[in-house]
Amino acid sequence: MAKIGFIGLGIMGAPMAVNLIKGGHELFAYTRGDFPKSVKEAGATVCSNGTEVTRQADIIITMVPDTPHVEDALFSEDGVAAGLTAGKIVVDMSSISPVATKGFAERIVKLGCEYLDAPVSGGEVGAKAGSLTIMVGGKQEAFDKVKPLFELMGKNITLVGGYGDGQITKVANQIIVALTIEAVGEALLLASKAGADAGKVREALMGGFANSRILEVHGERMVKRTFDPGFRIELHQKDLNLALTTARQLGVALPNTATAQELFNTCAAHGGAEQDHSAMVRALEIMANYEIGQ
Ligand code: NAD
Repeated sequence: MAKIGFIGLGIMGAPMAVNLIKGGHELFAYTRGDFPKSVKEAGATVCSNGTEVTRQADIIITMVPDTPHVEDALFSEDGVAAGLTAGKIVVDMSSISPVATKGFAERIVKLGCEYLDAPVSGGEVGAKAGSLTIMVGGKQEAFDKVKPLFELMGKNITLVGGYGDGQITKVANQIIVALTIEAVGEALLLASKAGADAGKVREALMGGFANSRILEVHGERMVKRTFDPGFRIELHQKDLNLALTTARQLGVALPNTATAQELFNTCAAHGGAEQDHSAMVRALEIMANYEIGQ
């Protein structure tokens, strides 16, 4: 049984924390905003800041929205770093900048501790089911120590490489997801405008080479017009921003990622920032002046 610290109990963090407690571990937790009932009822010890969490735990997990939130959770006056003693392990499971991650790892390692970046894919459903995909960067030894905890939260768990490599893998994931949503959106929109039933088109394609989880799940949302999140457009905009910023730093052109980001920007401008990312199809529909199933 490990003593685990958990910081950030939102859509993803709360069910992940519950799965760790169900796995028999002692959990000390802090979040901004309301402390979720589900985590309290599971038996977590409620702490008033990150330092208090860290003093009581050996492995400290962060699951907050973006790079500045991780920096704040780790390095603010009452944050994680202020409570660290040598030998503890900090595990950031948020999706944030791969470049900033290397800096955070360096600062934590200087304190005699270890750092893993371990962002996830699989959404709220995967977080609840303990079936997330977890992409890890850091040292093998730290990974081996934390792996039993990852196994309570996820299924496909890979140590990709050094610090930041987990985050760059997640960025790669988000590029593929965005561009596939765009492809499915274009395909269903065209088929529908041509007079075919978009639902039937999706069904027909699901058996073939164009099949994907995104055709199945997001394609269905486009046909049924159910855009409640899921994964919010504003979070995907954050991830594509990480992709485009990193690409600029490395001198790599990502033309279709840039286009996908413009489509998300269009959705946000039309009030859709909090809709599911499958609603990217609405930007295509605005350009076509036609809605799937119209
Ligand atoms: P969320 O906004 O629901 O939850 C984040 C929580 O962190 C909130 O409760 C917030 O109050 C808290 N928080 C923010 N700053 C804090 C701080 N400094 N100290 C303590 N708590 C703080 O977000 P989420 O959907 O749970 O996403 C978390 C991360 O996981 C993001 O990086 C996101 O991109 C990634 N992610 C989300 C999904 C998804 O489907 N929602 C899927 C994969 C990855």
